[in-house]
Amino acid sequence: STVGTAARLVGVVKDITERKQMEEQLRQAEVVFETTAEGIFIMDEAQRIASVNLAFTGITGYRPEEVLGQDPNELLHARRHSDQFYPRLETTLRGQWQGETYCRRKNGEVFPAWESVSVVRDAEGVITHYVTVFADITAIRRAEEQLQHLAHHDPLTGLPNRLLFNDRLDQTLEWARREGQRCALLFFDLDGFKHINDTLGHCCGDLLLQTLAARIKVALRHSDTVARLGGDEFVVIMANIAQAEDGARLARKLLETLAAPIELVGERIAVSASVGISIYPDDGTDRHALLKAADTAMYSAKAQGRNRFCFYTEEMAVRALERLGIEQGLKRALETQGFTVHYQPQVALSDGAITGIEALVRWQHPQQGVVSPARFIPIAEEAGLIEPLGRWVLSTACTEIGRWAKAWGTALRLSVNVSARQLLRDHFHETVRQALLETGFPAHQLELEITESTLQVIEHSMRVLDELKALEVQIAIDDFGTGYSSLSVLKHLPIDRLKIDHSFVRDIPEDINDVAIVEAIVALSRTLRLKVTAEGVENEAQLSMLRRLGCEEGQGYLFSPPLPFAALQAFIMQTNRQF
Ligand code: C2E
Ligand code: MG
Ligand code: MG
Repeated sequence: STVGTAARLVGVVKDITERKQMEEQLRQAEVVFETTAEGIFIMDEAQRIASVNLAFTGITGYRPEEVLGQDPNELLHARRHSDQFYPRLETTLRGQWQGETYCRRKNGEVFPAWESVSVVRDAEGVITHYVTVFADITAIRRAEEQLQHLAHHDPLTGLPNRLLFNDRLDQTLEWARREGQRCALLFFDLDGFKHINDTLGHCCGDLLLQTLAARIKVALRHSDTVARLGGDEFVVIMANIAQAEDGARLARKLLETLAAPIELVGERIAVSASVGISIYPDDGTDRHALLKAADTAMYSAKAQGRNRFCFYTEEMAVRALERLGIEQGLKRALETQGFTVHYQPQVALSDGAITGIEALVRWQHPQQGVVSPARFIPIAEEAGLIEPLGRWVLSTACTEIGRWAKAWGTALRLSVNVSARQLLRDHFHETVRQALLETGFPAHQLELEITESTLQVIEHSMRVLDELKALEVQIAIDDFGTGYSSLSVLKHLPIDRLKIDHSFVRDIPEDINDVAIVEAIVALSRTLRLKVTAEGVENEAQLSMLRRLGCEEGQGYLFSPPLPFAALQAFIMQTNRQF
């Protein structure tokens, strides 16, 4: 009997524990139901809403009494053809479904939701309820869209970037191929943008790009796409053009639009652009070929003087290839000492005494022989090779002339040509100081030649000239008369000499206009207290006319061509004996 009593007692205790556990579980479920951030609604077997939680009201705006007994399809689910609720419920019948839907709030606003639906069955397996949990994913979707936009657009101008451009161009070409249509690609690059950036600062550069991007957008047809490929490079896709002339018309319009002056930090800046145009299918059938053709044409537009457009031609490709050959040759020559410096004497016109020597670089090409600097200097400038090359010329000339002048006791002026790219580089004066220091060449005997067109390029960074003057080197304006220096600019510059361009010397004394120009330059140099040298003196008639006009110094084949270093030494020794 003791055993029987004990058995009954155990049974009672177990029963109470189970009920307590059930109650506890229900209470926990209740807490979760009411406090979770996800909206929850429970439907009966007829798919009518039986209960909703607090978050449901928070998300949808419906109070419980407004939705009880309603069909959530009518009430909540926004009808969009991409969004069908019915197949979802069919899968739900077998267990669970989750996915993205669009729901409508009480105020009519549609929002993306992540929903999961589960079925609840009784002991016999019959469906008694459906439980739907959903979250408002508007914020996530918005962040995703922003990321998408960022990945495909340039943050500065809001224009499509290279990624999106590639995509659009591929699509356009695909369409053109199917429909047998023509398209145009306009590649454009702002003229002198780097210079604006360097002198007015990046903020101004950014502002300029934004302004121009907005102008370009306005100028386009709806079917055209403009993208910024980076820096100051933009490209326009013209889908469906009737003839190539359509591309030219848009290019003209864009150049006009861009040319209107822009006010930047109190300065009115006018920019121009160089545009290259390629046509599908004439100049290429895929993205790479068309871009390359447009880019080549753009280079040609730049070379022809900027602020213009060019269509791509076969001949350009040949020239581009040649250019590339020169560029690679120059790189190799820099590594393998393929350059030499020749020297051309400058003389006093009164007695023919040698007063200075101009250093002129020569490139000994392994196949083509001596290549003229007129041909390779512009390429070296564009390819960023002018700085190492210029540094090499400067230190070689200072070393050779310096060592020799010391040994022979002559104090000759050494002239070295400097291009705009070198001057625009930060701390160019440091490079010069370094070269003087390393070679021991006296600063006051060094003259740097800057072409008149360079003056225009460095217009906003004239400080570099003062920095050079502070080293005590002299400054000459080369090819004077070919640019457009205003007298007021010249007056304020720390320059020492004008070199009359040989184009004015060539036809004197016959050409009276040239005689008048040379006379005017000589008079100008007197007024501004500058020294003056005539370039390209080839014969006695020119010499006597220059003397008559009061020009002090000359340089040219009449006195001597540029000579290799050894020949220069012999020439100077012989000439000096004469005087
Ligand atoms: P530039 O500084 O005006 O040099 C004078 C050019 O005229 C030289 O051409 C010279 O050979 C040529 N010349 C000399 N006498 C006469 C003459 O009587 N008649 C004619 N018709 N021409 C004469 P080159 O050596 O071919 O140099 C061409 C240009 O290349 C130079 O013009 C200069 O602007 C540039 N250059 C040369 N060396 C360098 C350099 O080391 N650095 C830079 N940045 N430019 C250089
Ligand atoms: Mg020169
Ligand atoms: Mg010159």
